[in-house]
Amino acid sequence: MLHYLPVTRQRLHATQRQLHAALDELRVAEAIFATTQPAMITDARRRILRVNEAFTELMGYTPEEVIGNTPWMFRSNHHDGQFYADMLATIGSTGRWQGEIWDRRKNGGVFPKWMSISAVHNAAGELTHLVATYTDLSAQKQAQQQIHQLAFYDRLTTLPNRTLLHERLQRAMADTGRSGRHGALLLLDWDDLKALNDSLGHPMGDALLQQIAQRLAACVQDHDTVGRLGGDEFAIVLPDVGSDREQAAARAESTAQAILRSLAQPMRLGNSDYAGSASLGLALFGAGATGATDADQLLKQAEMAMYQAKAAGRAGLHFFDAALEQAISGRLQLERELRAGIARQELLLHYQPQVALRDGSFRTIGAEALVRWQHPGRGLLGPGLFIPLAEETGLIAPLGQWVLQAACKQLGAWQRQPALAQLSLAVNVSAAQFLQPGFATDLLALLEQTGAPAQRLKLELTESMLLGNADTVVATMAQLQAHGVRFSLDDFGTGYSSLQYLKRLPLYQLKIDQGFVRDLEHNESDAAIARSVIALAQGLGLAVIAEGVESQAQQRLLLDMGCSNYQGYWFSRPLPLADFEAWCARSATVTPA
Ligand code: C2E
Ligand code: MG
Ligand code: MG
Repeated sequence: MLHYLPVTRQRLHATQRQLHAALDELRVAEAIFATTQPAMITDARRRILRVNEAFTELMGYTPEEVIGNTPWMFRSNHHDGQFYADMLATIGSTGRWQGEIWDRRKNGGVFPKWMSISAVHNAAGELTHLVATYTDLSAQKQAQQQIHQLAFYDRLTTLPNRTLLHERLQRAMADTGRSGRHGALLLLDWDDLKALNDSLGHPMGDALLQQIAQRLAACVQDHDTVGRLGGDEFAIVLPDVGSDREQAAARAESTAQAILRSLAQPMRLGNSDYAGSASLGLALFGAGATGATDADQLLKQAEMAMYQAKAAGRAGLHFFDAALEQAISGRLQLERELRAGIARQELLLHYQPQVALRDGSFRTIGAEALVRWQHPGRGLLGPGLFIPLAEETGLIAPLGQWVLQAACKQLGAWQRQPALAQLSLAVNVSAAQFLQPGFATDLLALLEQTGAPAQRLKLELTESMLLGNADTVVATMAQLQAHGVRFSLDDFGTGYSSLQYLKRLPLYQLKIDQGFVRDLEHNESDAAIARSVIALAQGLGLAVIAEGVESQAQQRLLLDMGCSNYQGYWFSRPLPLADFEAWCARSATVTPA
């Protein structure tokens, strides 16, 4: 028995030592828990058991407010459900998780923190606790943002700096490479910053640069980038100015002109007005525009163009691509002239007779109004020279409005002459014009005001305007048809004729395109198309007219196919009003269509 005593004492001592060690460890753990690092302990079911003082300071809750709850109470909308599910799965498999998490404080503020979670297991290996510690990342984030601001933005103007602009330009070039569209780079250099700095001092120079930055930003759209390259050099990236090269150049040029106009307004510097000027260089990119393959090369091109602008007397704009510049300036001039021409009443209508074969003789049923432009320098211009431009620039709206007005006035005037009262008048309407809100109401008002009978007005539409707009087109047509206006589908056979569409449209007539009439006698497939258009019209219960009839042979063939309405040089060219009225008086009887 006795010999057991020392052993027992030894074991007692050992147990005491273990107990002390455990107590020491506990004290260490307690000390750690009491440090300045926020910490939280939960049980295995994630119910909060303890939080330390640093935690309550960070989150704004007292221990009583959180104990018994789960950390779910701190969640923000920053993360989705998957984020939390992944976190739990990682803890389950590895026993730990760490990462950035955005939580909500008691006061509602959401902020980023770095969180480390460790799982605690008992001797049997079962999960008993989770311990989480945090580091507040708000200050780091702020610093990061500040670094970003310093690295990518110009301090004086807060505009993107050269680095960021370069990056955006590179990205825009890659995008146009994929999409086949065009972008533009404008490079701007203020003409006399040095003189201003020398005479008024640098603070004034800085104030000027800030005002330039503001004006530039106001001239562009959201997806464009205005940046300051340094000194008095600014650059503007227009990432998408359209697919057609000339049109893209015209759009970039119009932004550049807007910038020049804006910068030409005097600036307020101190107590006085200051008027300076800028020189602009423009280079297009995308779709092989100028051959520049990267941002640096393009910047050089724009810079070269800018120096040319400076050399040409400052306060101007130069294109890198001279041929393009010439094409654009021609177009721009035409656009300016057309705008003025519409206002100065330089447009006029010619009338091409439409005839019907009735009881063995041709009778005039009406005319198609075809617009002409009496250009002050270039003489009488046909619509092929200016309608496409008008459509691209939006001038088609005032132009089309003028045509409709003139046509309705004429219809109203014929109405008061018994010999001409039966004439109907066909008017071409462009898609952009027809799709304008209020088109139908405006036209109905116009009919009333001019005394033109709605049933004598025939609007010529094209199939292409149906694409993507079928519902609007049908609704507008129906509204007008209800008042008697009739519709003819122009250039029929050249478009996207789908029976589906045709059946939905309240049409009166199909117009066989002149392209099929031209070779009617010699080209079997043209003849087949003409024949099927006529059959289609008959099947749908529509009238049919052939345009571009230039010979009796064509007219006879068309008649054999079942078409007895015609328009074309064989009958008459488009005529000025007086000639048309004389033609009506001289030729066959005027008869209703
Ligand atoms: P469109 O509506 O198909 O007009 C028929 C065109 O064919 C007219 O050309 C007419 O002069 C021409 N033409 C008539 N008969 C013959 C012929 O026997 N042989 C040949 N080779 N040509 C003939 P124009 O006046 O140059 O008009 C061209 C196009 O311009 C028109 O084609 C129409 O799409 C458009 N257009 C004309 N006036 C207006 C308008 O007021 N508004 C709109 N939006 N477009 C118009
Ligand atoms: Mg037409
Ligand atoms: Mg036509």
